[in-house]
Amino acid sequence: MTDHGFSTRAIHVGQEFDPTTGAIIPPIYQTSTFVQDGVGGLRGGYEYSRGGNPTRTSLETLLASLEGGKRALSFSSGLAAEDALLRAVLQPGDHVVLGNDVYGGTHRLINRVHGAWGVRNTTVDLGDLSAVREALAVDGTRILWIETPSNPLMKISDVAALAELGHEVGAIVVVDNTFASPALQQPLALGADVVVHSTTKYLGGHSDVVGGAVVIDDDELADKVQFVQFAAGAVSGPMDAWLTTRGIKTLAVRMQRHSANAQAVAERLVGHPAIQAVYYPGLAHHPGHELAARQMSGFGGMLSVALVGGAEAAKAFAEATEVFQLAESLGGVESLIGYPSEMTHASVRGTELEVPDNVIRLSVGIEDAADLIADVEQALEKIAGRA
Ligand SMILES: *Cc1c(COP(=O)(O)O)cnc(C)c1O
Repeated sequence: MTDHGFSTRAIHVGQEFDPTTGAIIPPIYQTSTFVQDGVGGLRGGYEYSRGGNPTRTSLETLLASLEGGKRALSFSSGLAAEDALLRAVLQPGDHVVLGNDVYGGTHRLINRVHGAWGVRNTTVDLGDLSAVREALAVDGTRILWIETPSNPLMKISDVAALAELGHEVGAIVVVDNTFASPALQQPLALGADVVVHSTTKYLGGHSDVVGGAVVIDDDELADKVQFVQFAAGAVSGPMDAWLTTRGIKTLAVRMQRHSANAQAVAERLVGHPAIQAVYYPGLAHHPGHELAARQMSGFGGMLSVALVGGAEAAKAFAEATEVFQLAESLGGVESLIGYPSEMTHASVRGTELEVPDNVIRLSVGIEDAADLIADVEQALEKIAGRA
């Protein structure tokens, strides 16, 4: 299947029909253990589902193919995946460099959980390559952590250039590819060593499962992460793995529609009197537009806007939409709206990762673009009437 296109692989890799019954969809192996033909006589290598389960193998094989990596490992959440990677790589005293607009939960994990075990970190503007070089020069730097596009201001970072800088000091270069998904961006091909995902978002795509994954192109590192997966045990269950695999089959078409809808909404909001700024890489004036056009094959479904009326207007807007539902998370087929400074990014308030309090974030779904545009317009009218 390696010579097939992305959409074909998304539907078929790791998805061979069941040889016993002909079921076109492989069964969900909802089992904790596997009967042995005599001690150690494993059928197909499976022994106990923390160590391995065929439904999880199916998802992992698929994810490795879509990201162009040798191996993938799937976990019970995005943060569980990140944690396993960090534990596999880091020792007390080691140093991690990460973007100053990294996902708040990633910062919390590295700073507070791993920080308590003596791991140091520096946050830096990933768009400032000399600042990145300086941060990487700190003794003991083991990881450069990149997230692009970033959350929620949609900053675009140059993966190829950053990977080169990271490799100069022998660091492992990690890209959180949650926002773009492998349908729009393939960090391993750009020079990164590891891709991490919250599969909860676009890969699952239907807001019905929490999960995470690590994709690695190097067997030695993959063995280490697989050992942590087995030894610490934050694995994805068979049902979660199956739901994620099912979601991935439509990833390519969903990402096209997410991107088209987000572009339409972003263009409509630019210049609106209630809107101070629109952050979407598909807009020609976005500072990362050209880089995104080079590095990605679409601009994705996430955008943020800053409101002229400040925090009050931003909150009122988030509460006034109807098709866009007020909720955390992103990447599902249904549109969501969020107020980062008190929702997704509440944990970084008061730090340099703080999000301006007049910003709201839209996860633009795959409904009809006309309905989404009408919804944001009626919400802006409603709050203008209130002011
Ligand atoms: C949601 C998210 C995570 C964390 O994933 P969970 O599945 O919620 O644990 C990590 N990175 C990004 C960019 C995310 O959006």
